[in-house]
Amino acid sequence: MISIASAQADKAAFCSSAPFERGAFPQAAIYCSDGRFVDQINQFLHHGLGLDGYDQMAIAGGPACFAGYFEAYREEEGAVSHLRFLSRLHKLDRLILISHEGCGFYSDFLRVSELGLHDRLRSDLSRAARRIREVEARLRIEGYLARVSGTSVWFESVVV
Ligand SMILES: [Zn+2]
Repeated sequence: MISIASAQADKAAFCSSAPFERGAFPQAAIYCSDGRFVDQINQFLHHGLGLDGYDQMAIAGGPACFAGYFEAYREEEGAVSHLRFLSRLHKLDRLILISHEGCGFYSDFLRVSELGLHDRLRSDLSRAARRIREVEARLRIEGYLARVSGTSVWFESVVV
């Protein structure tokens, strides 16, 4: 085991200034793994929703992995399994789903045009919420769509 003093003495080690919280957080966020949105999403969760912390599931397409596209594949099964595990272990009661504009999962994998993208993202948030309620009925689920305007990202609430 490396002590903090020896880790600090080792120039290759990095010690985070963020304090470690020992208690688990009762909420989780599921969003796309697209790194262009990570900072904005974390800022939204901390400052927009006022959360101290949360579990995270970052996967390509985010909530889309619960929207029925992978029913015949293991991705959805794996995502459901991960969520059930987190929900049980950390006694989750709140789940935040975030989709985003310009998502490669939609443009590349599903070939959805920009024209119908917003409607599709909103309806998929609802489909994902329905699927999650089938397996974790006690979760309060919220949906958000991350939208881009110039260099800004803003978050629109979506009823799910
Ligand atoms: Zn994406």
